[in-house]
Amino acid sequence: MLDTAHKPDYQRVKSVVRGLLAEFDVTIPPVNPVEIARSKGVGVKFVDFAGDADRISGFYDCDENAIYVNKHEFPLRQTFTVAHELGHALMHKDWAASEDYKILFRDSDYDGNDSYEKEANAFAAHLLVPRFMLGEYWEGNTAESLSRLFAVSVPMIKNRLAFEYGV
Ligand SMILES: [Zn+2]
Repeated sequence: MLDTAHKPDYQRVKSVVRGLLAEFDVTIPPVNPVEIARSKGVGVKFVDFAGDADRISGFYDCDENAIYVNKHEFPLRQTFTVAHELGHALMHKDWAASEDYKILFRDSDYDGNDSYEKEANAFAAHLLVPRFMLGEYWEGNTAESLSRLFAVSVPMIKNRLAFEYGV
């Protein structure tokens, strides 16, 4: 049954992420969400969404327990998509099987208002840029060099720096 009064639970998100990083002993960037997903038994398939469907970044298919990613997108965006959809796969299975679930489009970014989308975005942010890793590298590095190091976009690095350090 769906929890219609669902509110984002960021403590839970962070604890799921911490558990994953510990389980696979991920200690240095870049974090590879494809490897982590596959290790958890979640398939990751890079596919050609033909025609109008090319606007799709990706989605999670509950029945197949697999994430489908647009193979024509930039690698950084693919990484974000896999991390975001892995959040749904690991935290939101019931919701992802419902008609409320929404696929991730290319033109939508970090602005999901839905609490499940907020959790999936937070999951991706904490998974790809864990606080303990950011803490080792952020001082003396530009957002651009951190973006290369963590293999995420510059806006995501800036969001993470603002969130963790208020800079
Ligand atoms: Zn989503």
